[in-house]
Amino acid sequence: MAIVSIAKGRSLVSPAANSYKRMRSAGLPTGGINSSYRSLSGQIKIFFERYVVQWRGRGRYSDARWYKGKRYVRISSAGMVAVPGTSTHGEGLALDMSTSSAAHAWVLRHGAAYGWKRTIRSEPWHFEYSGKRDTNAVEPIQAAVHVTTDGIWAGGTDKGTWAVRAASRFRGIKFPYGKRYTQSRVHTSPDGVWGNLSRTAHDKAVMALQRALARLGLYNGKIDGIYGPVTEKGFKLARKIFKR
Ligand SMILES: [Zn+2]
Repeated sequence: MAIVSIAKGRSLVSPAANSYKRMRSAGLPTGGINSSYRSLSGQIKIFFERYVVQWRGRGRYSDARWYKGKRYVRISSAGMVAVPGTSTHGEGLALDMSTSSAAHAWVLRHGAAYGWKRTIRSEPWHFEYSGKRDTNAVEPIQAAVHVTTDGIWAGGTDKGTWAVRAASRFRGIKFPYGKRYTQSRVHTSPDGVWGNLSRTAHDKAVMALQRALARLGLYNGKIDGIYGPVTEKGFKLARKIFKR
């Protein structure tokens, strides 16, 4: 996974790290981060520090949850922890910020424009990166395949990127939504004939996609318009992060 350091001992998946760095350039104060990316082993460690098996009752903090077929209640006042494997911290998409820090106040006020928002009502310190409203995230990908640039990876974006991906040699030059639809996505006249003009237009769309992925730190290959395994890897990761 493309996990990138943002501060000493703190890291995020690269699109979220990019966004964090842009916030820093825009005035976000340093520090205030209590937690960022957590490996699965790190999540398990914290979970077992705070929860014990208990089959009945809700415990002192009224916090009971299931993990691997066993029921646990929380014994620590240090706060809730997601069941290992289910936390957005494990994907490098979450930041916990001390609520008394200047950084927390900054993200609360300006974070939305960079794709960050609070997602858990009872955890005012927890922010998640979705890319929504971050104009550097999904919009360039949408522009690459000529779909509406609203910053949200929903049906239209998914279909458009999927069509461009399928039409590349790497995927066997396929047209799951018809040739005319793919031609529209690569911005050439939709005449239903996939010839040289279409192939050239397709390469251009793939170049734009590679540039968008590179900006997110998800592609470090050549901007050559050839959709290959490296582009595929970056594309799949972007889709995993942004699709909703
Ligand atoms: Zn958190």
